[in-house]
Amino acid sequence: MVEMASGKKNLELQLSKISDFENPDVRYEQYMTSAEVASTLVHMADMNGDIEGKIVVDLGAGTGMLAIGSALRNAKLVIGVERDENALSIAKKNARLIAPDTELSWVLADVECIPIEIGGDMQITGVMNPPFGAQRSNKHADRIFLEKMSEIASVSYSMHNQSSVEFIETFVEAKGGFISHSYSSVMILKKSQEFHSQSKKELQMEVHRIVWK
Ligand code: SAH
Repeated sequence: MVEMASGKKNLELQLSKISDFENPDVRYEQYMTSAEVASTLVHMADMNGDIEGKIVVDLGAGTGMLAIGSALRNAKLVIGVERDENALSIAKKNARLIAPDTELSWVLADVECIPIEIGGDMQITGVMNPPFGAQRSNKHADRIFLEKMSEIASVSYSMHNQSSVEFIETFVEAKGGFISHSYSSVMILKKSQEFHSQSKKELQMEVHRIVWK
């Protein structure tokens, strides 16, 4: 028990060195997951046997938080997919600094058209903190990310707006999968845009482990 806790703390300490977005793009909902929230997710996934020795795909990898966390927990290979090249270049620097001896590949692409051929019986674990669709016009922006996960992953871990639990459940069931467990989490968002009125905001989230096939 003590060992497990210190393992998570150690991961959090390493992930706290990850650099954030330089000029977050509000259209893409670029918010870095905190080291605390990311280490909890990756640690839990690892305890469930879904990281070590597995191929892990991070959709919307940003500056690498979840991808690098998975690599540090001895994934066989981690592939981070991100469409913003500035974010990706920070992710690469972060990886060189924090996880130099791991197998990490970065793919500059939109998740809608990932140029990755996924072999038939390959077991892939997905991790993601997708755009939540915070703006009304952008509601359920996480749909396309879930759609992709359902195609490539056998199991995935993802964070969502607490209010979208029903939407996620319905979506996953329609794909023949199920949510095996969930937990609530809080993320503190720092002011990153001029139009944000508060300097900090608490975001209530739900983290789901989804079994797709
Ligand atoms: N996974 C990172 C970043 C989360 S923010 C972390 O946990 O810290 C969401 C990321 O998804 C942003 O970096 C954004 O640029 C990326 N993104 C949004 N829409 C995308 C799309 N259609 N294809 C690929 N990346 C996308």
